[in-house]
Amino acid sequence: MHQRDELDRAIEAAAREMARASHAVALVGAGLSAESGIPTFRGGEGLWTKLGEPTFDGWELFNEDPAAWWQRAIDFKEEFADFNRAIDEARPNPGHLAMADLEAMGRLAHVITQNIDNLHQRAGSRHITEIHGNRYLVRCMSCGSRDRLESVRLDRLPPLCPECGGFMKNDTVMFGEPIPEDALRECYRQTALCDLFLVVGTSAVVYPAAEFPVMACRRGVPLIEINPEETPLSGLAEVVIRASAGESLPAIVERLKAGTSRS
Ligand code: NAD
Repeated sequence: MHQRDELDRAIEAAAREMARASHAVALVGAGLSAESGIPTFRGGEGLWTKLGEPTFDGWELFNEDPAAWWQRAIDFKEEFADFNRAIDEARPNPGHLAMADLEAMGRLAHVITQNIDNLHQRAGSRHITEIHGNRYLVRCMSCGSRDRLESVRLDRLPPLCPECGGFMKNDTVMFGEPIPEDALRECYRQTALCDLFLVVGTSAVVYPAAEFPVMACRRGVPLIEINPEETPLSGLAEVVIRASAGESLPAIVERLKAGTSRS
């Protein structure tokens, strides 16, 4: 963690960069939702750091037998049941609210989130791409259309797409599953458009998400990293804030509101 004056200087520098940018884009990871009570996977307090990595066979199991996969999910017996419960109980924290504020202030054009927890929407952000899906949606594996999980009829498994008859699956992207094309296209588009990249609470080891800031950086776009721990992106970042998202994002908003960062 930063010493207090070092942290203040980093916040000030981040606010200055955000005041200058005309199309800032953020890549967000599980760390943003840690202060909402949802555990991260990696990092000091991460689930996998403590318990080891689980088996990643969800995508194979779905492909082998979609009906059995759905039955396990309905019975809440899947490997991630406790994790999903934490998401269901979570509420947006000051970090999510500050990101929505930054968007409303015209300082943040788009959020690419790896989180599946719907907390950006609940905090009021509007321009969001969920690269790993959303826990509260289902997606057709044939035509890609999405619907709300709670509106899907589960009397026959697997549920079928009302548009094309394809198999529906939870929208969450499982390990090994291809990223939905529409989401991936928008991520590359935002990466090409941005003139500032904010990287918040991600270990930056999951691809392709981790490559977007690197691609922007190669074009000379400055990166701001907010993470209490070092990541593979730290060395590329113009500004590194070694503090929690829930502390630093509201501080950036305050600095911008005070107008002290306009040069
Ligand atoms: P990760 O678990 O790999 O890494 C979390 C990162 O957050 C670490 O670098 C850690 O140092 C940092 N961190 C911890 N607390 C923080 C805080 N208060 N403020 C800022 N940073 C903090 O997360 P990832 O890089 O997003 O990759 C994990 C994958 O798992 C993602 O693809 C995501 O889909 C999924 N996931 C989602 C959620 C969620 O929806 N909330 C939670 C866990 C994992």
